[in-house]
Amino acid sequence: MAALPFDQREGVIFMDGTLVPWKEAKLHVLTHGLHYASCVFEGERAYGGRIFKSSEHSQRFKASAELLDFQIPYSIAELDRIKQLVVDRNNFKDCYVRPLAWRGSEMMAISAQNAAIHVAVAVWEWPSMFDVAQKMKGVRLDIAAFRRPDPATAPAQAKAAGLYMICTISKHRAERRGYADAMMLDWLGRVAECTGANIFFTREGVIHTPVADCFLSGITRGTVIELAKRRGIEVMERRIMPEELSGFEECFICGTGAEVTPVSEIGPCKFAPGAISRALIDDYSAEVQPKQRAA
Ligand code: PMP
Repeated sequence: MAALPFDQREGVIFMDGTLVPWKEAKLHVLTHGLHYASCVFEGERAYGGRIFKSSEHSQRFKASAELLDFQIPYSIAELDRIKQLVVDRNNFKDCYVRPLAWRGSEMMAISAQNAAIHVAVAVWEWPSMFDVAQKMKGVRLDIAAFRRPDPATAPAQAKAAGLYMICTISKHRAERRGYADAMMLDWLGRVAECTGANIFFTREGVIHTPVADCFLSGITRGTVIELAKRRGIEVMERRIMPEELSGFEECFICGTGAEVTPVSEIGPCKFAPGAISRALIDDYSAEVQPKQRAA
């Protein structure tokens, strides 16, 4: 049976200051955010009813809006409270959290200086993949035809709706070709990231990951780097060319949605999900659990 469409579920959604019944969280077709992609969002997960790194996501949410030349009318602390309220009111423990901010309908042209800024937060159930044996088989990645844009061409560090256009096209093409996702190169042809996750490789016990200066430096990426360092594993952030892929042993991707997911193939290159991927899957699932408060 097909999953219930996202506009037909039960629960509450935060919209412009109030909690509204899920099916009533609507907007008009003449909305600037829809026509001109003046829209930013976040993707977060709650584990055991607590949002992992909520404040870091709220901070990035506000920074993304500023890169699109608008201000989110809430502080980080207010956003954290709103998100937790939406999780609690929907009675979810393990769920995805989607804050969204967009320009409204007051102006309908490229310039939208006086358009109102709207903010919504929705949550939905999305349990993480607990079957580690299944995970360790790895996913297969295509290589996307589109590249991450030059930071002089687009606000590359914003989690902005418009930047996902090439991700959806690339992921559709990958799926049609039988892959789970696509790895994207950057504007200079270097390895960048996947359509919704960052990428890591290992060689001789060292982790290598691309420098995140022209794509989203994920919050999960930061967590994984910290977890690897805690284990004493060296992490090199550097430029990685696609020609180097065949020299790596393990590969994994990470993101709020993907968590830590091993990769078995990228185009013609094969990888063997192994001890480092396994250790980071375990460390990440321990890290995201809500911390017990001291008695
Ligand atoms: N890159 C892209 C394009 C993404 O959509 C995501 C998911 N938000 C990531 C990287 C990973 O970011 P995070 O770890 O903050 O979820």
